[in-house]
Amino acid sequence: PDTINDVRTAHSNAEAYADLHRFVAGGVSSNMRAKGVATPIVVDSAAGCRIRDIEGNELIDVNMGYGPHIFGYADPDVTGQVADQFTRGHLTGLPHRLDRQAAGLVTELVPGIERLRFANSGTEALMSTVRLARALTGRTLLLTFEGHYHGWSETLLRSAETDGYRPRPGAAGMIPEATAHTLQVPWNDAEAVEKVFEEHGGRLSAVVCEPVLGNVGVVPPDPGFLALLRERTREHGALLVFDEVITGFRVARGGAQELYGIVPDLTVLSKVLGGGFPVAAFGGAREAMEPLATYAAFHAGVYSGNHAALRAVAATLTKIAAAPALYTELEALGAHAEARVRAAADSAGRVLAVDRVGSVMSVQLMAAASGRLDRQGHRLLQMACQRRGVYFHPVPEEPWFLSTAHTRSDIDTIAGVLGEALAETAG
Ligand code: PLP
Repeated sequence: PDTINDVRTAHSNAEAYADLHRFVAGGVSSNMRAKGVATPIVVDSAAGCRIRDIEGNELIDVNMGYGPHIFGYADPDVTGQVADQFTRGHLTGLPHRLDRQAAGLVTELVPGIERLRFANSGTEALMSTVRLARALTGRTLLLTFEGHYHGWSETLLRSAETDGYRPRPGAAGMIPEATAHTLQVPWNDAEAVEKVFEEHGGRLSAVVCEPVLGNVGVVPPDPGFLALLRERTREHGALLVFDEVITGFRVARGGAQELYGIVPDLTVLSKVLGGGFPVAAFGGAREAMEPLATYAAFHAGVYSGNHAALRAVAATLTKIAAAPALYTELEALGAHAEARVRAAADSAGRVLAVDRVGSVMSVQLMAAASGRLDRQGHRLLQMACQRRGVYFHPVPEEPWFLSTAHTRSDIDTIAGVLGEALAETAG
């Protein structure tokens, strides 16, 4: 029986989404995904940069599954290989040649990784990285930054200035003391960082950051800020951890560490790493991985590094390695998108904050009077765009992700739709 067709028969998006709530708590399997639904949409299929819903509507997508699909949905070069892997057995719980191949590609492309472990999600990989940092330093304290998102583990889920988009420590079911060892300062605030090191330098196990903040819009590091983190961590015997879940293989082949020339002690990768398949990796210099090499620190997982996930890594990274112009092309596409979006806002006489690094771009509606984020307006804008066949996330924190599947003509269509929607929702 065709299980997909069984579901396809019945409903409109709205009906199907309402029905889903009877069976799936909240209708979705990620709280953030629920906020991605301002007007119900239930997907039938996706290819390239387009999603088709169960009513047969086609939408150009710039959320792109929150970023993994750098070559677009259902890229045959990646999915073809993964499909082949399923016919060869995708999970044996034993070492496989693909472990060597996938790890070899990551270590070749990412400056800060000589040895690694694979995991299933960014959250898991970050949990393990924190444990590793603590094992290496014998210290517990972490320094993180406001607005940065490192998954939903209790220790790292501290930032809450996103108006309910993410929970506060102590929210339903969470232990408030879980973040007792997690310090936090504003991003790009050099003075605050200096102060933390003065007061706690000898107790810090790690500084953890997204080297380009991509979870409250796109906020690149100020010039010298990553270098400051690198210097202070070295001086105080703490580790520098780059959460490159978004930026890895995205802002440059070797991630933000290559783009900005700052190599962290530990790096976390996911998203583009597996081209859309659930896989993550964390690693660092040979010595930094010693607690795992000797099994002194614990990390495990039935599905960690399963053969299908690693085939996806191998296929994606082989394709990236074979495309020397990829990031120049994505930068050009991003620049085109930025220019067109800015022009659309100007013609409509409305204020969009546009920030971009390569193919990651945030587009946020601002209230003209206050100059502040206009959350409700942004949501209405999203709904007006969705009606016209363009999907981006209704929460302004979530950036747009462009891919090689987006053509300039797609970008022009998006900008045209945005312009109309800005005009429609004005006033
Ligand atoms: N780190 C960053 C920077 C992310 O953007 C995300 C997810 O969006 C995560 C970690 C968590 O990854 P996952 O959702 O795979 O657990």
